[in-house]
Amino acid sequence: MKRYRKEYEALDKQHLWHPFTQMREWIASPQLVIERGQGVYLFDTEGNRYIDGVSSLWTNIHGHRHPALVRAIRQQLAKLEHSTFLGLTSVPAVELAEKLVAIAPRNLTRVFYSDNGSTAVEIALKMSFQYWRQQGKEFSRKQKFISFANAYHGDTIGSVSLGGVDLFHKIFKPLLFKSFKVFYPDCYRCPFGKQPDSCDVYCLKEFEATLKKHEREVCAVAVEPAIQGAAGMLTAPRGFLKRIETLCRNHNVHLILDEVATGFGRTGTMFACEHEQVAPDFLALAKGLSGGTLPLAATLTTSEVFEAFLGEYTDFKSFFHGHTYTGNPLACAVAAASLDLFRTEKTLQKLRPKIRYLAQRLASFWGLQHVGDIRQAGFMAGIELAKDRGSRIPYPAAERIGHAVAMEARRRGVILRPLGNVVVLMPPLSISHSQLKRLLDAAYESIDAATKGTQCVALSSVVARDQESVRASE
Ligand SMILES: *Cc1c(COP(=O)(O)O)cnc(C)c1O
Repeated sequence: MKRYRKEYEALDKQHLWHPFTQMREWIASPQLVIERGQGVYLFDTEGNRYIDGVSSLWTNIHGHRHPALVRAIRQQLAKLEHSTFLGLTSVPAVELAEKLVAIAPRNLTRVFYSDNGSTAVEIALKMSFQYWRQQGKEFSRKQKFISFANAYHGDTIGSVSLGGVDLFHKIFKPLLFKSFKVFYPDCYRCPFGKQPDSCDVYCLKEFEATLKKHEREVCAVAVEPAIQGAAGMLTAPRGFLKRIETLCRNHNVHLILDEVATGFGRTGTMFACEHEQVAPDFLALAKGLSGGTLPLAATLTTSEVFEAFLGEYTDFKSFFHGHTYTGNPLACAVAAASLDLFRTEKTLQKLRPKIRYLAQRLASFWGLQHVGDIRQAGFMAGIELAKDRGSRIPYPAAERIGHAVAMEARRRGVILRPLGNVVVLMPPLSISHSQLKRLLDAAYESIDAATKGTQCVALSSVVARDQESVRASE
């Protein structure tokens, strides 16, 4: 018997607890119940259609229910749904590993599976830690990590320990291990008063100093390449990642790249590290790995790291970590099919004009008075709204301006999930030109509608200026 939307909504509010959600507000507000997906669209139980403007939290690549992905799951389901990866292997898990190694930076030859981005990073931390312990001698003193301000590496305790988004992490501080936190580029509010095209990544000086001082205690550096997603889509200037890589090599510490968000084409190349030809010691992958269909993650590493774990059984050098659903065959089969689609549908080639169009259209958003900054890394974009653009005064959290924009977008048939005052645009890579146009039109109108009348009288004389004059005036 078909239930009505109201029943689902009521039952949800009675029994469910949603992530990163103030449930009192959730319960007090009307909620969409999603029933179906097709291509770039999601449909609610009433049959209303929405463009999935954030790829279902940055996961979807080829659109919802892509026939090739549905087929891959069906075909695998006809053979095997799951068997353990502890003591056994499986066909799809092997095939996917072969494909991943083929597209990853060349030094990465080993694949360790898990189920989500947090564990993919957690595994890299533990592998690096254990690697140095097993090197013995002075290396066993390497027990700490360096990570970046505003970093987001997931929600497990190890990943949170490296995280730097205070809003998410502060309350758990007593539970966390200490790590060295260093400055990540924040060009919109550069504390050094530099410009991204001429700064020569000045803000890495702190990282360099910390690394020099503590290299004997540090196992690894963890970083989100090109762009920090959850921090509010903060883009790093060119040269940032390469410099980090060089410093890591010179100071004998591992480099962990968290490409959970940036992986699988989001920045225009398969992995963001390709833009600067950086080869990390660990590469953490999740979100887009399965094309946005099933939970799957992978931590890739080098044969050098791998070989340090080889020994006699009784040396107990094994990597003692694993999850019950490690290497799930359905997830691996669909991930392999998703990688095949990149080739057969020329996903990355077709993405290039869309990235250009996105950049072009985003430039017109400067026409909106409360757009403070526009950041883009390939097909990942963030529009930061400011109460007063000239002086970069942010909207107070209580105004929930990002949320207001998302609600306006819903009325225009678009699902968005903002990060504070930053409106995030990250549609499936497969979105068509006309769908992308509609998404951008809706985003523009929604920002306009939500920010109108939000400024105080004293600021009403601030006129819309383009980026150049804003930067020049300060
Ligand atoms: C989403 C995200 C994670 C965490 O992934 P989950 O699958 O949510 O655990 C880690 N790192 C980055 C960069 C992310 O964007």
